[in-house]
Amino acid sequence: MTRKILLTAALPYANGAIHLGHLVEYIQTDIWTRFQKMRGHECWFVCADDTHGTPIMLRAEKEGITPEQLIERVHAEHSRDFAGFHVAFDNYYTTHSDETRHYSEDIFAKLKAAGLIEIRSIEQYYDPVKLMFLPDRFIKGECPKCGAKDQYGDACESCGAAYAPTDLKNPYSAVSGAPPVLKSSDHYFFKLSDPRCQDFLRQWTQQEERLQPEAANKLQEWLGAPGESKLTDWDISRDAPYFGFEIPGDNGKSTGKYFYVWLDAPIGYMGSFKNFCDKKGLDFDEFWGKDSTAELYHFIGKDILYFHALFWPAELAHAGYRTPTKVFAHGFLTVDGAKMSKSRGTFITAESYLTQGLNPEWLRYYFAAKLNGSMEDIDLNLEDFTQRVNSDLIGKYINIASRAAGFIAKRFDGKLQREHVSARFKAELPGLMEAADEIAGYYEVRDYARGMRCVMALADRINQYVDKNQPWVLAKQEGQEAKLHEVCSLLINAFRLLTIYLKPVLPKLAQRAEEFLNVAPLHWADAGHLLPIAHPISDYEHLMQRIDAKQIDSLIAANRESLEPTAAAPAPSPGIPLRITVAEPHSPQRHAQHQQHSEDIVQAQTSPVEPTISIDDFSKVDLRIARIADAQHVEGADKLIRLTLDLGEGETRNVFAGIKSAYDPAQLVGRLTVMVANLAPRKMKFGISEGMVLAASDSDGKSPGLFLLSPDSGAQPGMRVK
Ligand SMILES: [Zn+2]
Repeated sequence: MTRKILLTAALPYANGAIHLGHLVEYIQTDIWTRFQKMRGHECWFVCADDTHGTPIMLRAEKEGITPEQLIERVHAEHSRDFAGFHVAFDNYYTTHSDETRHYSEDIFAKLKAAGLIEIRSIEQYYDPVKLMFLPDRFIKGECPKCGAKDQYGDACESCGAAYAPTDLKNPYSAVSGAPPVLKSSDHYFFKLSDPRCQDFLRQWTQQEERLQPEAANKLQEWLGAPGESKLTDWDISRDAPYFGFEIPGDNGKSTGKYFYVWLDAPIGYMGSFKNFCDKKGLDFDEFWGKDSTAELYHFIGKDILYFHALFWPAELAHAGYRTPTKVFAHGFLTVDGAKMSKSRGTFITAESYLTQGLNPEWLRYYFAAKLNGSMEDIDLNLEDFTQRVNSDLIGKYINIASRAAGFIAKRFDGKLQREHVSARFKAELPGLMEAADEIAGYYEVRDYARGMRCVMALADRINQYVDKNQPWVLAKQEGQEAKLHEVCSLLINAFRLLTIYLKPVLPKLAQRAEEFLNVAPLHWADAGHLLPIAHPISDYEHLMQRIDAKQIDSLIAANRESLEPTAAAPAPSPGIPLRITVAEPHSPQRHAQHQQHSEDIVQAQTSPVEPTISIDDFSKVDLRIARIADAQHVEGADKLIRLTLDLGEGETRNVFAGIKSAYDPAQLVGRLTVMVANLAPRKMKFGISEGMVLAASDSDGKSPGLFLLSPDSGAQPGMRVK
């Protein structure tokens, strides 16, 4: 039966470059799309640039161009990068479109008619020079607790206190520098707390495997127990000036309010698909209508689960549209076991990877070999990357074709055996054709890692067959002509089958293999038969180069060099050690690797070395090795993790650390770190914090980085650090 499938990947924000962390998602989704298409299903993959919000508006202003010019330029850059990695969207559009505006207004009107929109006045800081309301991260001032200067409006980087922007002393606008004034304004709220939304979500999130088990658990936590009302209403409007869609007023009147970027971003999926339908003559309602039987899947990073599994289905359901069939969340990318880092050169952009001459299919294969359909982070280990690609793709797969092709060309006029090989094939290489169903099953559940292991196990068996029959020996023996022809014909057929199995991951390589095999584009069903007798193949040309370790070195060097001073302030040069900051509540980037269109200002900050202190001053700070005995999420805190630190000899401390953006509590338990043991206990909203743990952060604030310190092995809890 032909399935109707619509796929989306999260919309990249139109103010930055695509990097390898983004590509985990786009490559993953592209592989799934290509697989479904090869299976003969009607499958569409749409995406768009996410173009609205304050950061876009201010960035364009800083560059002296209009937001429209900025998003147009970035759209071209993103499209180039995706094409470079063979990510084949059926439509790559923009949220700044008539279609997205139409559905935003439509959904808003329907939610309003359903009584799910409420207007409330809220008081906020306002920049009297710039004439704009200031999101928290655009307000700076002195910390109300410790007095540190130049702290953001939500948390102090120096002492770790969390507060409201109105608590700051001597606040000023990060945009104009002027002291802000408090001003009230009407905002539109989507009433997520309404019992209709809560009841709907309670049911929706737990049914039909809509979410991966770990995501469903997360949702359960957010929703609370039945009867509990943990969801709060969502502010979906922003005041002018704002780059976005104005919220329509009654009878066509102007409201001067704009839809918050997170309202229209997912609606951009609909906008992009509508645009595609109009071009292709497809029926939009067949996919998005309330009674649609088509399948709809969103691939997203785990950091934006809240938006896709709460707000989005609740909006759709109450505005008369269908909801997603499933939401597939994935983890983040680490490089060599650590967060991507600009200073280490592991914050690798798509563009630099391609311009350094690395083959995009190497990365596609490596990601596929690591992705298993869960929310776990995946690691790009650069040494393993080199070894695995060279060993699997060159050593095992391509080797099969290159060992057989020459004999077919030179000895047999470029044609396969004249007799049917299928009985011999099944006898010599049993299970190779039959594996098609098993491998398809792994693709279907997005466990590409098992799929790739299965394909490579088949490749091993084929190579054993080569070693057993030694065609290069047969070629020198009298009277072995027929045997040589048979062995090589079997190998070409085996290579063709592996090509089918790898094609969703390696589309360009498969295309070249098809040219060599002299066959039409391969579909999955083609695994059910072999090549016809006396089939002519083309001359063999080498299909893929090996990775040279030097290429990886140049890539890292190129990305390290891209640390250019910005106009705002110089970023630290690689030679200057990173400043160690105390990892109390502060998240450098609220939306981690993926979407960056929160209202966080992306601004370079210098971190000059502090004034000189004496050894006596230093020795006042009692630093100790601590073992993280337990780590827990803190209910209601979006930055904090509660750590129970073991200092040895039965002494434990309770510490709240602002490291949630960078660490999962489960990963922390058991590891050693360094803490300030003699810091005066501080009362925080969630309890008393008895010390601090130490972490490094990249002070330019751009890379998603917070790095907890660890001692070398052998250190014991309680040891003093001096
Ligand atoms: Zn402070």
